[in-house]
Amino acid sequence: MKGKTSLISQQMSVQRNRLAILAILSLGLSVAIVGQAVLLADAVQRIFVQGEALSSVVALLGALLAVMAVRSLLSYGNGRIGLNMAATAKRNMRSALLQNMIHASIPSAIRGQAGEKVSIALDAVDEADSYFSQYMPRMIEVSMIPVLILIVVFTQHANSGFIMLCTAPFIPLFMILAGLKTKNKSEEKYAQLAEFSGTFLNAVRGLVTLKIFGQARRQQQEIERSSMGYRDATMSILRIAFTNTFMLETIVMLSIGIVALELAIQLLIYKSITFHTAFLILLLVPEYYSLFKNTGTAFHTGRTSMGAIRKVEQMMVETDGKSQGLKEEQEGTRSGESRLDTIVMPPSIGLDHIRFRYLPDSFELCTPSITIGQGQNVAIVGKSGSGKTTLLHLIAGLLRPDSGEILVNGNLISQFAESEWFERMSYITQHPYIFAGTLAENIAIGTGRDVSRAEIERAASEAGLADLAAQLEHGYDTLVGEGGRGLSGGEQQRLALARAFLKRPSLILFDEPTVGLDLYTERILQKSLNTLAQGATMITVAHRLYTIQHADNILFMDNGVLVGSGRHDELLKTLPQYAEMIQVQREGGLA
Ligand code: ADP
Repeated sequence: MKGKTSLISQQMSVQRNRLAILAILSLGLSVAIVGQAVLLADAVQRIFVQGEALSSVVALLGALLAVMAVRSLLSYGNGRIGLNMAATAKRNMRSALLQNMIHASIPSAIRGQAGEKVSIALDAVDEADSYFSQYMPRMIEVSMIPVLILIVVFTQHANSGFIMLCTAPFIPLFMILAGLKTKNKSEEKYAQLAEFSGTFLNAVRGLVTLKIFGQARRQQQEIERSSMGYRDATMSILRIAFTNTFMLETIVMLSIGIVALELAIQLLIYKSITFHTAFLILLLVPEYYSLFKNTGTAFHTGRTSMGAIRKVEQMMVETDGKSQGLKEEQEGTRSGESRLDTIVMPPSIGLDHIRFRYLPDSFELCTPSITIGQGQNVAIVGKSGSGKTTLLHLIAGLLRPDSGEILVNGNLISQFAESEWFERMSYITQHPYIFAGTLAENIAIGTGRDVSRAEIERAASEAGLADLAAQLEHGYDTLVGEGGRGLSGGEQQRLALARAFLKRPSLILFDEPTVGLDLYTERILQKSLNTLAQGATMITVAHRLYTIQHADNILFMDNGVLVGSGRHDELLKTLPQYAEMIQVQREGGLA
């Protein structure tokens, strides 16, 4: 997806047939325009100049009507094809965007604002419409019709032809100058719209929090500021459009005036041309200029569209190109034997002198060389903000280290395809995403294959969800997530566990709840996790003393640095910061 107009040229090649029909129709249109002028000039000449009876020109008038009808039909046809081209292009662009998002690697899917993505997929793609429905048809028309008109005018009266030929370039020249400015402004408009959508989505999502903290008003002002920004960007485009139209009208009027003046002088003073010729040219001249004028307007909207299309392309490149950590998905990856198939599970995980920063000059994470053994139960501990979650994300392959390597049984993690890796791993976060759907559907997404109801229920009961399902009126068919029944923090984690039970992962990454769960829920979670962890390597961001004390190995993070590792009793002796943390926890009664 590279090159500046790759999306457009892609669409052009897909819609070659329609472009060819557009060209043929435009050719027909140019013949119809000239034919109409010739027939009208003939009719006026015969009726008003030669004084012929109306009855003698009936055939001529009939032909004129027929040509006018054909011209209307051809114009209509051009419009229809333009609209069809736009509809197809928009459908293709949206589906390409969607495919791109679906196949994007997880790190690139995480990047960016959801609001911005939605605004690009909906609004920017809509804006692309006029490129195909107006800009392209007008461009094809302007490359044919004026040429034929000029040929006819030159054969009739070369002076007029010269005037038309010399004045015409001013219009495209002006259009290009204005269009270039518009395109930049249009990109600016989309940046503003994306910001506006992002702010709006943020405010809607966090409405409750904002209200609780009395910040709703401030957020309202923020939305107002960002919508004003969008308004200003739109207005500045409109300003260019209005000035543009005014200038074009002036150029066209002046040009027609010059041709008419010259014709009048030739006809009345020098008497060097006939009325028929002068009239025919006068009929053709407005057609000629109005075509350029329409193209001018189409050019303006076309450039606006190109700005929007550029945004769509950028988003595709962003979600497409910078795949991090794991190998990009390739067609057929799943069919062949993967490298992961050859690896003994559960895996050992090696951290080889990892360094990672989110942004330059910000928090830095570094680790020495350390190995988490096969089937081990490891706890990552440290103060809040010390980098525990970041380390877990690096191990999960959600982030890529700036230097150093993550090794799976000694192999670089980057060798494995994303889907293969995630098939063997479960990451149970504190707030798993609950999709709008039934409880059963939410559990079933734990695995890529089709699962039976019995399997879902077994996984749910292993995760301690069976009691909840029994209480619900519609059991496993109860709607949860957006628009459905809400789930408590503990229930959400049990749902995540049920997903993991369906998958039976070889590597479990677990973000232990920071807030204390009730004893009952905690026991259920602990029991389920113990079952799940049999035959798997498990890495937990741990907060509970129980988890920490029972871990085979503890990784202690301090301000981004993995300062020590070992069992609980070893670290108590060797690492004063660790002993201090445990002491604080005991005093706080968190055990
Ligand atoms: P912990 O899990 O130990 O509380 P984290 O790994 O979440 O700590 O965060 C470590 C540091 O990285 C913090 O200073 C945090 O502000 C920063 N951080 C976390 N996520 C991001 C992010 N997406 N972009 C920039 N900085 C981040």
